[in-house]
Amino acid sequence: MPGVSIDQERCVNCKTCVSTCPMGVYVDEGDKVVVAAEDECIACMGCVAACPTEAITVVE
Ligand code: SF4
Ligand code: SF4
Repeated sequence: MPGVSIDQERCVNCKTCVSTCPMGVYVDEGDKVVVAAEDECIACMGCVAACPTEAITVVE
């Protein structure tokens, strides 16, 4: 199972990962984005590529 994490120190809450992920792994909680469905991750790395601050780590 892939491991998905957001470094909240780096995250600027742009929501790009929420709109990029095809599997709905991220959820917008308003003041922050959280990893809510890690089990659904297919390790496509789209979010890692899209995040402007390199806040996301995905480990296959
Ligand atoms: S794309 Fe990166 S900076 Fe933007 S909300 Fe997601 S984790 Fe945070
Ligand atoms: S690697 Fe792909 S499936 Fe996994 S959280 Fe990122 S965008 Fe979603």
